[in-house]
Amino acid sequence: MFDKLRSAFSNAAKGLTEKELNEKDMEDILFELEISLHESDVASEVIDEIKSDLKTRLIGTKVEKNEIEKFVKDSLISTVSSLFDAAGKIDIFELIDEKKKVGQPFLILFVGINGTGKTTSLAKLAYMIQQKKYSVVIAAADTFRAGAIEQLREHTNRLNLKLVAQNYNSDPAAVARDAALYAKSHKIDCVLIDTAGRMQTSKNLMEQISKITKVVKPDFKIFVGDSLAGNDTVNQAKEFFEHVHFDGTILTKSDADARGGAALSVVKMTSTPVLYVGVGQEYPDLKPFDKETFLETVFGSLEDVSFEKPELKPEPELKPEPELKPEPELKPEPELKPEPNVISNDPFEGISDDEISKYSKLFEVTPPENDNEAKQLSSKIREWIRHGKPTPDETRKQMTESKLELENKELEKQKPDKEEERSKKKRGRFGFFRK
Ligand code: GDP
Repeated sequence: MFDKLRSAFSNAAKGLTEKELNEKDMEDILFELEISLHESDVASEVIDEIKSDLKTRLIGTKVEKNEIEKFVKDSLISTVSSLFDAAGKIDIFELIDEKKKVGQPFLILFVGINGTGKTTSLAKLAYMIQQKKYSVVIAAADTFRAGAIEQLREHTNRLNLKLVAQNYNSDPAAVARDAALYAKSHKIDCVLIDTAGRMQTSKNLMEQISKITKVVKPDFKIFVGDSLAGNDTVNQAKEFFEHVHFDGTILTKSDADARGGAALSVVKMTSTPVLYVGVGQEYPDLKPFDKETFLETVFGSLEDVSFEKPELKPEPELKPEPELKPEPELKPEPELKPEPNVISNDPFEGISDDEISKYSKLFEVTPPENDNEAKQLSSKIREWIRHGKPTPDETRKQMTESKLELENKELEKQKPDKEEERSKKKRGRFGFFRK
C-alpha cells in the first residue's frame, strides 16, 4: 500500500544525507521528489507546497551529517501532517447525535462518478451505522443508470434495511425527499442518499445533484473517489466540490493503492478531510481515515519522530573576541593609579620618568633590552610604588613570599609584544639608563 509515495519521500530523505544543505543540492533533490510525487498521483499544488515547505525548513540548516536523513524525514512528515490537520477532522456520529437530539434524521448525500465504489461505500457506511445501533434508511436517487436501483436493493436486502425507491427516470430529488419524510415519520436516525454517477453530460449531472441538494438540504455531503484513479479522482473532486461543496471524502480501494497520493491531493484541493477509506469489498471494509496510520504507512514508524522542527545546530557565528581577563592584580592603594592592563601599548603607562629613574638607581637596574624585559621591569616598578617606594632593604621585609610568587607568575604569563615599532619606542624611553 502506498509503496510509490513511500519511496518518493524516502529517496528525498536519503538523497540529502551526504550533502550540504545548500540551495543547489536542494534543487536537485526537490526536483527528483517532484517527479516521484507526480508518479504517486500527488497533485501539482500539493507538490509545490511540500517542496516549498521542505525548502524553507532545510536551507541554511546545519544538521549533523548522521541526522540529516531523520531531519528531512521529520520535515516531510510535519508538512504532510499539517496538510491533513488543515482540513480538520469530522466525526459523523457526533453530527448524527446532534440531529437525533432534536428529533430529526441526519441526511447524507453521496456523490461521485460511476465505478468509483460509491454504491458499495454507501452500503458499507449503512452497515457501520447499524453496527453502532443507529437506524438508517437508503434512498435510490440514481434513477438514471440501469441496474442502480437493483444494486442497492441487493445491499438493503442483505443488510435488512428499508430502501426508498421509484422508477427509473423519475425525479431523483423527489426520491430523496420521500426518504427524508419516511425517516422523519418513522423516527429513523439517518438517511443515505445515492445519486447518479454519470449522465448525458457532466453539466447535467452537476445540475441534477445541485437540484437534489436544494430540495432536501442534506446535512452532510460525501464525495466518493477511487484512490486508484489518481489525478482523475482529484479532478472529479474539484468539479464536484465546485458544485456541491461536499464536507468530506471516502477514498475507495485503498487496499490496492500502490501510489497513495490521492488522499493528500483531495484533502489539499478541497480543504475537507478524508473521512473513511475503503479497504476491501466486504461491509466491514470501511475504516475511518487516520492520519497517523497514513503517515506510518508512508514513512514507517513514527515512534521517535518529532513533528516539530528538530532543534537546529546554530549557524557558526563570528566568534566574539575572547574576553580578555584582566590581570589578577593586587589591590591598589587608593591613591595609586591601577596597573594598566598588560595589553596596553605602553608597559610604563602611569609611571613617571622620576619613578623609573629612582627605582633603577635604588635597585641598580640596567635598561631593558627588549619589550619583554620592559614589561617585567614596569611590573616591578608598579609593585614597588604600591608598597610605598621602599628601599631594597625595606622591600625585602615588606614583600611577602606569596606576593613575590604571584608576581613571578604574572610576569611569566606576559606575552612578547609583536609590534616592533612599539618595542623600539619603549626602549627609547630608557635611553637614560645607558648613560
Ligand atoms: P459505483 O458504480 O460507484 O457505485 O461502484 P460500485 O460500488 O459498484 O463498485 C465498483 C467496484 O469496486 C465493485 O466491484 C466493488 O466491489 C469495488 N470496490 C468498491 N470499494 C472497494 C474497496 O474499497 N476495495 C476494493 N478492493 N474494491 C472496492
